[in-house]
Parts: sequence; C-alpha cells; structure tokens
Amino acid sequence: MRIGKETMKANSINAATRAFRVVGLPGDGIGPEVYAAARRVLGVLERRFDLEIRLDEQLIGGAAIDATGDPLPQETIDACNDADAALLGAVGGPKWDGNPAEQRPELGLLRIRAEFNLFCNLRPIVTHPALHSFSPIRPERLQNVDLMIVRELTGGSYFGKKWRNDDEAEDVCRYTRAEVQRVTRAAGRIAQQRDKCITLVDKANVLETSRLWRAVAHRVIEDEFPDVQIENLYVDAAAMHLLTRPADFDVILTENLFGDILSDEASMLCGSLGLLPSASLNDERFGLYEPVHGSAPDIAGQGKANPYAMLLSLAMMLRYSLDCADEAGALESCIHSCWADGILTTDLHPDGFTTSEVTDRVCERLAVTAEQ
Ligand code: NAD
Repeated sequence: MRIGKETMKANSINAATRAFRVVGLPGDGIGPEVYAAARRVLGVLERRFDLEIRLDEQLIGGAAIDATGDPLPQETIDACNDADAALLGAVGGPKWDGNPAEQRPELGLLRIRAEFNLFCNLRPIVTHPALHSFSPIRPERLQNVDLMIVRELTGGSYFGKKWRNDDEAEDVCRYTRAEVQRVTRAAGRIAQQRDKCITLVDKANVLETSRLWRAVAHRVIEDEFPDVQIENLYVDAAAMHLLTRPADFDVILTENLFGDILSDEASMLCGSLGLLPSASLNDERFGLYEPVHGSAPDIAGQGKANPYAMLLSLAMMLRYSLDCADEAGALESCIHSCWADGILTTDLHPDGFTTSEVTDRVCERLAVTAEQ
C-alpha cells in the first residue's frame, strides 16, 4: 500500500458520505444515449467516493411534448427546484421541426435557462495532445490551448421580442446594464483563477448592444477586478483568430448568439463537437450541465454518439454544483487516459468504439483507480 499525500486525500474523501439530488433530463436523439453513459459513470463515482446521488429523471424537449404537450412540464421545474443540479442530454429533432414555436423542443431548453436564471454559460475549450491529429487545425497551433468561453445565456436575440409574417420577421436583441454586469462579474472571477485576461467579443462597430456591453464590461473589470486585463475583439475577427492563434486566449466573454456560434467553431480545435461540455450557472448553487452538441438525429440510435462531452459535463457538475472537485478531477484524468489510449468513438476514428464500449472503459478505469 502506498502511504502518501494521494492516499491520505482519498481516505479523507471516503470518510463521509455526501448526498445530493440531481435531476436527469435525457431529452431526444442521442441525448438519452449520452445520458445513459453519464448515469453509469455516476454509479461508479458513488461507489468510488461514497457519494449518494439521488437521480430524479424528468422530461424535457420533444420527449416532453410527446408525453405531455409541453416542452418543459411543471413537474420538471418542480423537480429542479428541489435539486442541486440538472444533467441534460440534448433536445430537438426533425420529428418536431414543423411544430409551432411554443411546441418546439428547443423552447424547453430556453425556458429552463430563464426559469432558473442561468445567465452564465461556461464552455471550456482545452486541447489534448492525443487528439491533435483529429483537428483540422495544424498541430503546432493547438499546443497549450486552454480557454474558457463565458457566454451570456438568458438575454439577447434568443430571448427578445419575436414576430414573423410572410414578408418580414424580427428578433429583437436587447441587453440591460444589469445583465451585462452580472455575467462580466462571473467572467472576472473566473479570470482571476486563470491567466487574468478577458477578451470581450462583440460587434461594437455596428451594434448598439455591443457598445453598451463595452462600456459596462470595461467599467466592471476596471472597478472590481483591477488585476484582470480586458481587451476587445470584433466577432468576425474573433472567428478567425480562434483558429489561427487559439492559445493566446484565456477567457472569452460574449453575448448569447456570438457565444453559441464561436463555441461550435472552437470545438474543431478539440477534434469533435462530441468533446465539449458546458455548465449553465446562476448566482446560487443550482446549475444545468449539458454537452454543447445537439441531439444529432443523423446518428441517433446507432451507438455512435461520443459520450465524452456528457461525461466532462458531469465532471463540471461535480465541481461547480456539488463541491466535489477531487471527484471531478478523478473523472477528468480517467477520460484523458482513455484518450491517450485511443479509446474514441467514430466521429474521431473510423475504427472507433461504440458509445457503450467507451463508457465501459471509462467505468473500468474509474473503478480500478478506486482500488489503488
Ligand atoms: P448537432 O450538434 O446535433 O449535430 C451537428 C453534427 O455533429 C452532426 O453531424 C452530429 O452527428 C455531430 N455530433 C453532435 N454531437 C455528437 C456526438 N456526441 N458524437 C458524435 N457526433 C456528434 O447539431 P444540429 O444537427 O444542428 O442539430 C440537431 C438538433 O439538435 C436540432 O433539433 C437542434 O435544434 C438541436 N440542438 C439542441 C441543442 C441542445 O439540446 N443543447 C444544441 C444544439 C442543437
């Protein structure tokens, strides 16, 4: 037996059982497939670390529309009100594409963000040497890429007034000072734990909302985070710089729509959209954790879904809502060791493993780590 710092740490973790309530939201398409992977890994984590996670599975998205007519049933909201966190697969799919606006699966997601005030969406983009060859970007540009996209999640054109007739349509992009202040404070706190540099991405040469963002965000950082630097970048230039000099970024702070687009683009630095996790947070403990990807109807039901984005989202949940940083670290190390050994799905490798085979490997390694 090894007696050292690591052993002592593990013993102290095992000393007390901690219990948490998590709402599971499998959703649609590959959502239930990656959610099933997370549920299995959670089972291993519970045994490994003496955690007790009470999973309360609820409906959202297309599955909820089919069962209840509502993409976010009241029962789901009530369950989240009683929980520490929610873990979501993905929503949407062609079956519901022709539905009227209030009967769209994606509305369930927008409503849960608004209902719980989940204004701060964290999307970490970290490249791993074992995956450099799967990115379309040159490997030398992928060295030391470790950036955090902080996307505002409950404002802007996704939530503004909307209307359409046969000839015209409008999606109003509106932001208030208070909305910009609170997400900038979140970005400032995150930057303080990193390299202390925020890049504010906007379109201030054209948009009034961007000019408000610049004025308010600079004021907050200068007044409240004097140790943090803030620089500006137009979104069109940012789209280019993300691919040409990704290692130069630390924290990217941006509004809802720009953050949505830039993070899918940034997934190509890592190799696949199936690798990117996210956390959606408010000012309290509750958070919603989900992969950045959607329901991928083109591969649903085929065992091809990459579960790593979901498993990394689970790690974020452990860290941010359950205060289980050691457990999160153990899961992340296990995932990285799987990547190093080529345990990948077919989005990355033509002879790749299935979703459940990857999950088996992660569970086996996590369980073995427990015995060491
Ligand atoms: P998508 O993210 O579902 O898929 C884009 C591409 O990436 C597809 O080729 C898909 O096969 C691939 N992909 C995505 N996740 C993968 C994974 N884990 N493993 C392997 N390959 C993966 O985006 P889309 O096709 O534009 O949208 C499909 C549906 O998902 C739509 O209904 C959309 O509204 C919805 N959507 C939901 C969310 C969400 O639930 N948070 C996010 C984005 C899109």
